[in-house]
Amino acid sequence: MIKNTKEQLKNIYKIKDNVIDLYERALNDVEPEFAKYDEIREFNQLKVLHAFQEERISDSHFTNSTGYGYGDIGRDALDRVYARVFNAEAALVRPHFVNGTHAIGAALFGNLRPNDTMLSIVGAPYDTLNSIIGIAGDKNIGSLKEYGINYKQIDLKNGKVDLDAVREALIEDKSIKLVHIQRSTGYGWRNSLLVSEIKEIISFIKNIRKDVICFVDNCYGEFIDTIEPTDVGADLIAGSLIKNIGGGIAPTGGYIVGKSEYVTQAAYRLTIPGIGGECGSTFGVMRLLFQGLFIAPHVAMEAVKGAIFCSRIMELAGFEVLPKYNEKRSDIIQSIKFNDKEKLINFCKGIQQGSPVDSFLQCEPWDMPGYEDQIIMAAGAFVQGSSIELSADAPIREPYIAYLQGGLTFDHAKIGILIALNKILNTDNK
Ligand SMILES: *Cc1c(COP(=O)(O)O)cnc(C)c1O
Repeated sequence: MIKNTKEQLKNIYKIKDNVIDLYERALNDVEPEFAKYDEIREFNQLKVLHAFQEERISDSHFTNSTGYGYGDIGRDALDRVYARVFNAEAALVRPHFVNGTHAIGAALFGNLRPNDTMLSIVGAPYDTLNSIIGIAGDKNIGSLKEYGINYKQIDLKNGKVDLDAVREALIEDKSIKLVHIQRSTGYGWRNSLLVSEIKEIISFIKNIRKDVICFVDNCYGEFIDTIEPTDVGADLIAGSLIKNIGGGIAPTGGYIVGKSEYVTQAAYRLTIPGIGGECGSTFGVMRLLFQGLFIAPHVAMEAVKGAIFCSRIMELAGFEVLPKYNEKRSDIIQSIKFNDKEKLINFCKGIQQGSPVDSFLQCEPWDMPGYEDQIIMAAGAFVQGSSIELSADAPIREPYIAYLQGGLTFDHAKIGILIALNKILNTDNK
């Protein structure tokens, strides 16, 4: 009987010796890196546990309301738990947000008014925000632009926020009401912003203009550090529950956290002025949202380990990667530059093949709503499109970069990555 994982990888998935050799070398290199992240995980687990205890979470919070959803105690308690975890005044955590884009959109629409300007200081924001802002070609109906809200952008300079240009813009243009900061890389070839860097940026901005709302797109960033943007002065942040903070358990949803007045304004956009966060029945999902948050510090670190391992093995296999395995991370994303369309597609197909769900399907590039280029997405997930589960996606455009993220367990991430690499190195694509 075979009781050796490597033998099984060779038997079941036809992984060749060259990949097994890279596997051993990569694992050897990355293991010392993991200790730092274990410390962060431990800290965040304590943080979350304590927030549950302070809010006296009990079985009664897992029941749900119906109809208007007035006095849904689970919903209201989860908001308070999130606010504690993020060291913020208020939170709005809802299954009614269809995704992270929706949560970010509610934050922006809720807090901007005609003739205000939104300023992105991280260059082009995440692709799906283009339609919100009104810079998505012919897909701008209902955008901020149609409501007379302007948009400006300052590109990154050598991968960093161009603070001189930010100062100039803030002094020159008094209509700037909100500064948009994206923590994660999105579909860009850059490092994620560390929370310590976000701290510097926000205090720089507040020194020039105290009244500007510092908004952070926190998608993929939760629990990768011991502090979050709201710990260092962010006024408002938003993210998705089918990424880090849902722990792979939340079935859907998004969150907004920050100063009360800004969260309330966002809530008026999620529902309607006068109602805000006080209504909305919760369809029986509250236990899953609590449980997901509870396990999220652990799951986020499993995903980070997968990303670090992926970085090292792909680098050893000769591909350019970002970040490198030993660079400090602020999100769970691993970028791999293929410079080759076929390799990119094969990598994604390999991840799909290594999934627990839909492993027998081939993923193909398609025109995904909200995105301008075709996107290929490997996502054999329990929760549709969940990217805290092992997934890889890529816009089909040069230089053909794949973004790998997730993995509910590090062991699964390893297997998926080995299958994907084997597909690239050992498949005859003639
Ligand atoms: C995932 C993500 C979003 C939102 O995407 P959804 O698919 O709508 O949840 C926004 N910004 C960044 C940086 C992201 O990674």
